[in-house]
Amino acid sequence: MRYGVNEQGYYGDFGGAYIPEMLYPNVEELRQQYLNILNDEGFKAEFNRLLKDYVGRPSPLYYAKRYSEKYGANIFLKREDLNHTGSHKINNAIGQILLAERLGKKRIIAETGAGQHGVATATVCALKGIECVVYMGEIDIQRQAPNVARMKMLGAKVVPATSGSKTLKDATNEAMRDWINNPVDTHYIIGSVVGPYPYPEMVARFQSIISEETKNQLLEQTGKELPDYVLACVGGGSNAMGMFYHFLDDEAVKLIAVEAAGKGVDSGHSAATTSLGKEGVLHGSRTILMQTEDGQVVEPYSISAGLDYPGIGPQHAHLYKAKRAQYVSITDDEALQAGLLLSQTEGIIPAIESAHAFAYLEKMQFKKDDNVVICLSGRGDKDLDTYIKYFKY
Ligand SMILES: *Cc1c(COP(=O)(O)O)cnc(C)c1O
Repeated sequence: MRYGVNEQGYYGDFGGAYIPEMLYPNVEELRQQYLNILNDEGFKAEFNRLLKDYVGRPSPLYYAKRYSEKYGANIFLKREDLNHTGSHKINNAIGQILLAERLGKKRIIAETGAGQHGVATATVCALKGIECVVYMGEIDIQRQAPNVARMKMLGAKVVPATSGSKTLKDATNEAMRDWINNPVDTHYIIGSVVGPYPYPEMVARFQSIISEETKNQLLEQTGKELPDYVLACVGGGSNAMGMFYHFLDDEAVKLIAVEAAGKGVDSGHSAATTSLGKEGVLHGSRTILMQTEDGQVVEPYSISAGLDYPGIGPQHAHLYKAKRAQYVSITDDEALQAGLLLSQTEGIIPAIESAHAFAYLEKMQFKKDDNVVICLSGRGDKDLDTYIKYFKY
């Protein structure tokens, strides 16, 4: 695959595994085993069965009639919001718990921002009866109280990350620290296409079910398997990578990745990584991240906890630099308005993360018969408090 990973774990200039010596055995074990496990017939059968009967896949590709009329193109929504636990994150969590089981691991750790990945991980641990510890920023614990309760009810231990900005990046640091201290029995389920190789590749493969299904569904509904445009929001970039994966080598398909501009790209309160970032190393891989002149990570900001991350996955950094995908950004206000519009035009309340992708439709020009697919990465239930405060309901 032209935009895929090479033998050394790099996507162009990005990727690799920049890890402390003490993590080396864990990451090396994964690197040596993951492809064998993913290609094993027993693994594939169980993964596909759980995606079907437990997650509820295939998720529908919904032709949004009123949206299509409004924007003058054929707009399709890939309904990851309808998955069990409410977002795309469960696809990866299922893949990784099956992998951990086959590696003989007895304990799972994870980091979470919005709480969606934590809930997905706690869910699959309950499904398999495996101990689960989730690290979560103290601020995120406050903003996402219902997801914290869900994780606890599912039997997970939620540990607050109290350093730095007390959000996703700090939770990730804490999880890495735990893994270093528990190398033998613990598997770390990373929730996005970030981290040291092979994580970005492994997570992208688990999420690639999104574009695999989309191709078949488009063929069925339109007679063509390739759309003109594909849009997805980007935090670390896993729903976008899953949505782009099977279209990467079809250059006619325009890929649009929507980052969170927060209060504005130049406001000092933003998470628009490609606009503000430079090349460097974050959480074990070489990528693009927001950093100061002397390489300190800049605290990101977005109203949506899932997009509040200072970097992007290494494959996204490569797609950006190679200009294969276009990286744009949307402010908090624009996203919330788009969430309202989708609610009142199609009867679907989206996660605020997903609403960023929808907001970009306002800035695009379409031809009448363009086919456009948007990844509706999650449902808005977890964000009701934020919507209520903003719209003063
Ligand atoms: C976590 C999350 C995101 C952002 O994560 P990616 O890895 O960039 O996909 C987007 N949407 C929803 C609903 C999420 O829960």
